[in-house]
Amino acid sequence: MSVADPKGLAYWTVADTARRVAAGEVTAEDVVEQTLARITEHDATLGAFLEVDASGARAAARLVDQKRAAGAPIGPLGGVPIALKDNLVTKGLVTTAGSKILAGWVPPYDGAAAERLRAAGAILVGKTNLDEFGMGSSTERSAYKPAKNPWDTSRVPGGSSGGSAAAVAAGLCAASLGTDTGGSIRQPAALCGVVGLKPTYGRVSRWGVIAFASSLDQVGPLARTVADAAALLQVLAGHDPRDATSLTAPVPDYGAALAGGVAGVKVGVPKEYFGPGIDADVRAAIDQVIHQLRDAGAAISEVSLPHTGLALPAYYLVAPAEASSNLARYDGLRYGARADAPDLLQTYMRSRGAGFGPEVKRRIMLGTYALRSGYYDAYYRKAQQVRTLIKRDFDAAFREVDVLLTPTTPAPAFPLGSVSSPLDMYLADVFTLACNLAGLPGLSVPAGFTPAGLPIGAQLLGKPLDEAMLLRVGSAIEGAVGLADRHPEAFA
Ligand code: GLN
Repeated sequence: MSVADPKGLAYWTVADTARRVAAGEVTAEDVVEQTLARITEHDATLGAFLEVDASGARAAARLVDQKRAAGAPIGPLGGVPIALKDNLVTKGLVTTAGSKILAGWVPPYDGAAAERLRAAGAILVGKTNLDEFGMGSSTERSAYKPAKNPWDTSRVPGGSSGGSAAAVAAGLCAASLGTDTGGSIRQPAALCGVVGLKPTYGRVSRWGVIAFASSLDQVGPLARTVADAAALLQVLAGHDPRDATSLTAPVPDYGAALAGGVAGVKVGVPKEYFGPGIDADVRAAIDQVIHQLRDAGAAISEVSLPHTGLALPAYYLVAPAEASSNLARYDGLRYGARADAPDLLQTYMRSRGAGFGPEVKRRIMLGTYALRSGYYDAYYRKAQQVRTLIKRDFDAAFREVDVLLTPTTPAPAFPLGSVSSPLDMYLADVFTLACNLAGLPGLSVPAGFTPAGLPIGAQLLGKPLDEAMLLRVGSAIEGAVGLADRHPEAFA
């Protein structure tokens, strides 16, 4: 059966798509054909994808349709088109992490994320663009091409999961996965007007994630509704013995949390997130959300997280230190690109010199410096101590409140090419970093638009493993803001 309006399914939710495929209103093959057609039509403009797996997606869709015809279960995401950030390894499908050093690398296995999605019946349509190895906040640091913001293609979609956010916002897939080391799911979600969820550290397996900073990295969904983010988390969450930091805690029913409402929920507003650097439109949108939550019966109070200002310096020691170690494996011998050289040392140096971009090299140098013997105590150990202080701030706040509300970013999407200094780029994540340092779950949910039509995101931070509370409050905000049906006109 065909869909009457060929563009009709572009903005179907995950839930809607799964329901229609299961009910036989549309075939998975139709869904995939139309999704691929949209990608062909729009992605030359957006640059959201690094790789589109048309043949793999078609084969997976055929399988879903065959199963359904045979009366077999098709899975909770049966026939739903999903895109994966290109630092999540996919069997048989080129995975580069946005780096030239992995150009042409075809992983021999599926990571846990791809494995779980496929088992749930999802159709993996392609791999999305990112800042090289996840290092950036704009997707301009991709070694291949920048991605664009669907709401204004002269602006960045955020990063590093910018391709994943742009693809969802422009209706090129039903939902996508990103990774978040310091904000890379939430920040692009905010800048592109979609929902982005960074789960508690250890909630989702990192097996098959191309590592950036192992004590901070988490995989999570980007989607157009909070319910869709919940549906994806349901599939992704759970223990995986292949990741030593994977948590064994049982996985709750996230969908059941959505309708809980906010009556009696204690929402803390940390005053440190509302300093002078924040854009007036962002501030107004968050103030509006605070009023809406209060009207819906939430108890709002101001709280203090006194070490907030130290999150950025601590993150930019811990993350580069871990990155410098993780990236040591790209030596020109084991993966991807190898430079021609007369001896082993020259092979290492030339392969790494040609394969890594400038931001990655900067991080390797910073990280190696911070870990040097004699400097370790002054930098890395100190940063880990600060990390503990940040965690204690949150512990104290969560003794008083159930959830924290902040802006996701200090400002809306900036023009491509407008941020040239590395430090200014680092500041785009100033509100998202502390969450990763403390291992907490964080959700960005659309909170409104600037008068010029750029999306603004509200961030909710929760207690460890309390994704359900974030989804519940996020769903209430989504309902009050009432913008889940607004889509960028250029991609209608
Ligand atoms: N923008 C931050 C960085 O460059 C965070 C990136 C991320 O979360 N992967 O490190």
